[in-house]
Amino acid sequence: MVVLKKYNLNFDNKNNIYLIRADETLICPLCMNTRLYVIGSRKRKYIDIYGVKKFLLIRRLRCGKCGKIHHELPDIVTSYKRHCTQTIKSVIKNDIEDLCCEESTIKKIKLWWNHKILKFNEIPYPFGILFKDEIIYNNTYRGNFD
Ligand SMILES: [Zn+2]
Repeated sequence: MVVLKKYNLNFDNKNNIYLIRADETLICPLCMNTRLYVIGSRKRKYIDIYGVKKFLLIRRLRCGKCGKIHHELPDIVTSYKRHCTQTIKSVIKNDIEDLCCEESTIKKIKLWWNHKILKFNEIPYPFGILFKDEIIYNNTYRGNFD
């Protein structure tokens, strides 16, 4: 997966979907090669901060060196999460007053956040989540790695 920080979102009215165009050099996260080829695309649904379902057309890329396939994902969405990154960030920071999602969803996101480190415990540094402007560390487990 290639997470984009600089990109353009263009709305396609006809198909009701956002098209993403990277405005940065794409780099293979496995071998750091910069030659990635577009081999297709797929739809990706997400729920924005107002609770509105939206669709993205994300591109599938093949690395010209290692041959692995990656998806180009804008940082407004978090991998394997249906809610947008901003919603997840608000839940993690416990800033949930005006949040447009159900209590059960908030609990699930908190549970995911608190247990995320257990799924990726091979990572030898404090786990954090990268948002547009900052990295939020999972302080619950941070002490284990200091
Ligand atoms: Zn590669």
